[in-house]
Amino acid sequence: MGRVIPAITDVSDGALAAWLAERGEPKYRLKQIRRSVARSTATDWSGLTDLPLKLRAELAQSFRWSSVDLEREAASADGETRKALLRLHDGHHIETVLMPHHGARNSVCISTQAGCPMACAFCATGEMGLVRDLTAGEIVDQVRYWQRELRGREERVSHVVYMGMGEPLRNYGPVMSSVRALTDPDLFGISPRRITISTCGIVPKMDALAAEGLPITLAVSLHAADDATRARIMPVNRKWDVDEVLDASARYVERTKRRLTFEYVLLGGVNDGEEHAETVARRIAERGRTDMYHVNLIPVNPGPGGFKRPSPEKMERFARILERAGVGATVRISKGQDIAAGCGQLKVAEGKAAVPIRFDAPLPR
Ligand code: SAH
Repeated sequence: MGRVIPAITDVSDGALAAWLAERGEPKYRLKQIRRSVARSTATDWSGLTDLPLKLRAELAQSFRWSSVDLEREAASADGETRKALLRLHDGHHIETVLMPHHGARNSVCISTQAGCPMACAFCATGEMGLVRDLTAGEIVDQVRYWQRELRGREERVSHVVYMGMGEPLRNYGPVMSSVRALTDPDLFGISPRRITISTCGIVPKMDALAAEGLPITLAVSLHAADDATRARIMPVNRKWDVDEVLDASARYVERTKRRLTFEYVLLGGVNDGEEHAETVARRIAERGRTDMYHVNLIPVNPGPGGFKRPSPEKMERFARILERAGVGATVRISKGQDIAAGCGQLKVAEGKAAVPIRFDAPLPR
């Protein structure tokens, strides 16, 4: 394999400035290039017609236009949710999902790692294990991929959720660089309030995130509020238990004044009983300020472990117990399940030739 040139989204400002200086280019080119890379609908350097031809040719020789290439795309039957399988330069694959909401907003779900090391019992990505961390450019380029699609119809990415493959807080540096690029008004200009980072509860990094002073939304995958149940389905609980995760959540709320979301995947017969709901309610209430938390109840999507969804009545009862304790709760059904684009369904077969076995596999009944 020949030398792989870096993708422009993974080149630092310093390195790009030096590259331009070597070629005697004016300083303003740096911002110009960055802006075009973030906003242009072009699919390669030749499309940046506001740059001199010679410079475009030199850029193309030194930097890849994107760190991700489309392998294939799938759309859900209702035509709304779309999932893209993207190829990285070393042959690994990741997935990203576009979730439009009635023309009012376009949410993009992005991956932060190829695979995931956290091994939650119900999650397809966890079953893969960690393949590798993504670079900041590979994270940003997922948004750029959809942005390019949407700009064609005068729309844009309005919300970004870090809920794809991987554990964002186990790839902290690149994740934060990507947040800075996405929120930079000169680049993507997405409001930090419309960015959500989801974590399985990496406590020290939750504190680091709180200290960033950015008004981004934190989502915490709780899934059980007693240690025995949580440790059974989430190995990470053996490192940071429920109390530590809830305390870190309370510190995040205290420090950022942002409401925090708990995700709670409902697994029939495992964590969906009234006693589980009461434990969740009580332990959140113990931290005061129940109005600062919201619980998203997600009926489990088909995946590993053969977990079953509780009945709708049971999910309602669970939600009502939380509501009665003053904790807002909503039952949310993931979109795009027919293309395995729902929460915890992103998974790709590894290896260069073997492309995604489960990419558009039929839903198990
Ligand atoms: N690693 C981060 C980001 C992944 S977000 C985290 O754990 O928060 C994906 C969300 O989908 C998490 O809340 C995860 O627990 C949930 N999830 C995983 N598998 C699922 C499944 N089979 N059905 C529904 N939700 C699932």
